[in-house]
Amino acid sequence: MKLTTRILVADDSQPLRDFIVQAITDRGGFTATQARDGAEALEVALADPPDLILIDLQMPRMTGFQVLQALHERKADIPVILMTSHGSEAIAVEVFRQGVKNYLMKPFTADEMFAAIDGALAEVRLRRERDELTRHLTAANEELNRRVKEVDTLYQVGKSVTSMLSKDELMERILDAAFYVIGAEEAALMLLDPETGQLRMERHRQRVAGELHQSARRTAEELAAAAAQKGDATASGAMLYAPLKLGNRAIGALGVSNRVTAKPFSRHDRRLLLALADYAAIALENARLYEDVRQADLAKSEFVSLVAHELRTPMTSIRGYADMLVKGAVGTLTDQQQEFVRTICVNAERMRVLVSDLLDISRIETGQLRLEPKAVQLTDALDRALESTKAQIQARSQHFTTDVPADLPLVCADPDRLEQVLTNLISNAYKYTPEGGRIHIRAWLRDGHVHCAVSDTGIGIAKKDQLRLFTKFFRSDEEAVRRESGTGLGLCIVKNLVELQGGEIRVESQPGAGTTFTFTIPIAAA
Ligand code: ADP
Repeated sequence: MKLTTRILVADDSQPLRDFIVQAITDRGGFTATQARDGAEALEVALADPPDLILIDLQMPRMTGFQVLQALHERKADIPVILMTSHGSEAIAVEVFRQGVKNYLMKPFTADEMFAAIDGALAEVRLRRERDELTRHLTAANEELNRRVKEVDTLYQVGKSVTSMLSKDELMERILDAAFYVIGAEEAALMLLDPETGQLRMERHRQRVAGELHQSARRTAEELAAAAAQKGDATASGAMLYAPLKLGNRAIGALGVSNRVTAKPFSRHDRRLLLALADYAAIALENARLYEDVRQADLAKSEFVSLVAHELRTPMTSIRGYADMLVKGAVGTLTDQQQEFVRTICVNAERMRVLVSDLLDISRIETGQLRLEPKAVQLTDALDRALESTKAQIQARSQHFTTDVPADLPLVCADPDRLEQVLTNLISNAYKYTPEGGRIHIRAWLRDGHVHCAVSDTGIGIAKKDQLRLFTKFFRSDEEAVRRESGTGLGLCIVKNLVELQGGEIRVESQPGAGTTFTFTIPIAAA
């Protein structure tokens, strides 16, 4: 804070200068410099800008007006009070435009002069305060914008990190984020080993050359442990660690350091790192839970696969003996015995289908389904599928037609699996179509794929059910569906088989009017 206000008094009249200087000095709080003419006034004002200039209009060498103009051109922002005599008001109007604060009509008293000086200084002070405030506001606004951008970045980083489910990829992204958000030279991620309770370095990456020395590593470990224990950020020199917290429990720590430049981190960096660590902790926990679920799912699939496999042998045996009984291998059966054994056969067949579907599903889920694609005719697979379904179609008095051109190119497919797809779709067509309905199969070539549509005039599928049609165990609640035996696995397997062979499947259906399933199979290379 300046104690005195420095005033430059420019007038060619020595007595007036003396009067002014005397008055100012007497009042206190002011110091005065003098100039005898305009040129001198300009020189002094530019060399050591005063807080205020009292200037005469008519002076030798340079008029007050010219001095003002010269100051104005050089952007010297010094408040000016003009001292003028009668008859020069016209010029006074002009000089006000040059930023003159006030004017004094000669002769003036000391009081009049101080009133003018105080007025001009007050106005200048106000303007400076306003400018200062504006500068502050602009800076605050810029800071706010910067923060908003940071928060937005953090949010984007958080969103992308929390949606990631592979732990390895996730840890890499967390370090990327630490570099990106904080701009550190090094970043490290440590996780608590649940067995030993100790922190273990999982990832360390640096953007600068040089090895991490033992001592630096020890400091990092200590800071990380302190952060995890306190549940808050800890810093030492140019190293900063934040805990990875889940509720009150720490699962690790995320750290950054500027080992080479030794630049310490700001409070702001600390807040950013804490926020990032929160996101990271949630994301890591999600990844862990997801991995647990995946493992459990895998274990379940393997169990199902094992059980289904084990069931196959006794099932085959039951069927074999029942068939022999039906065929009279141990003598003629009574009608009732015939009926009972047939029921055994029908149910043994249902179980065979169920077991085989379960095996397929678990193989698909564990990625163990092996396909043996070959160049095959769609019609061959279709003929075999019809062989196993025609009895049921006939039993329901349904009309079956096909429209399959003889010159369709060979397709690239596993013949057994292609037959399985067709058998499944045809079985559904007859199961979910009332007696006397129609089933039609059409095939055509388009865009390097053979398209095959299986249509029926059956019960159709409600829109809401169409969305879940290809999911495991889905069966519609319709009475007509519940009456038929089924596992709800067929379409899920069909979709997987079609896609594994490079095709697609879609459904179009109108409840009450019928359904068409269309799948595609790529044609075999020439
Ligand atoms: P499943 O036939 O063993 O129940 P799918 O997976 O083959 O199992 O079919 C699932 C469900 O889709 C069926 O239960 C039925 O509700 C519906 N659905 C499948 N095909 C048809 C069809 N052609 N017409 C009407 N509904 C069908």
